[in-house]
Amino acid sequence: MTEQQAALLALLDLQAVDSELHAIMVKAKSLQESEHVKSLLARRAQAIEAAKQLDARGKEAASAVDGADTKVREIQARIDRDSERLNHGGTAKDLMGIQHEIDTLTKQRGHAEDAQYQAMEHAEAVAADREQKLPLLRAADAQARDAVSERDRGLAELQDRHRELTAQRPERVSAVGDETLVARYDSLRNARGGGRIAVARFERETCGACGTHMSPGDAQLILNAPAGTIPTCIECSALLVR
Ligand SMILES: [Zn+2]
Repeated sequence: MTEQQAALLALLDLQAVDSELHAIMVKAKSLQESEHVKSLLARRAQAIEAAKQLDARGKEAASAVDGADTKVREIQARIDRDSERLNHGGTAKDLMGIQHEIDTLTKQRGHAEDAQYQAMEHAEAVAADREQKLPLLRAADAQARDAVSERDRGLAELQDRHRELTAQRPERVSAVGDETLVARYDSLRNARGGGRIAVARFERETCGACGTHMSPGDAQLILNAPAGTIPTCIECSALLVR
């Protein structure tokens, strides 16, 4: 094997590391921008808002019941006081006045009791609605949390592998043993936005980087490239290893 052949084979090993590093970055970006996670987080935010509203409605309904209870109790206290006065006796006119007041208060108590009943019914309906919706809201919350932790687990795995490969890279670079060749490789790899395949095998008249199948004439030029030169792909400029 010539020195150049050995350098190119080592460069293929370096390319394998760089390709995996690039794939990791692409995958990490897509995980970070995951629409699935985004939509679950949006649903979670809606669920939290809905749960707050349900709590607020519950408190409002409970305080309406308290208010209605107080009103009934207050009217009842006045009726009790008047009944007491009635029992103590007095002039016929006084007693008639008191009795009239008791009648009026009794009517008021009836209305207050109706309102109390309605407030209780409303509070029960609100509580039932909350009971029914809360599990769905909790599920939306749990689903979003799961999706986020799964994404973060995936990202952590990618980060570990990225660290591993980055540590391997200098060794692969020195294995090539040709700084000029590595520099040429790096500049091809980082051209046009980066992440390109800069070196590939040329097999079955096809570029292993871009998949272009060469005409017999172009293939012959690549296969018969003079010693000391490295043939490149006419389509993607990748260095080709024969
Ligand atoms: Zn190519």
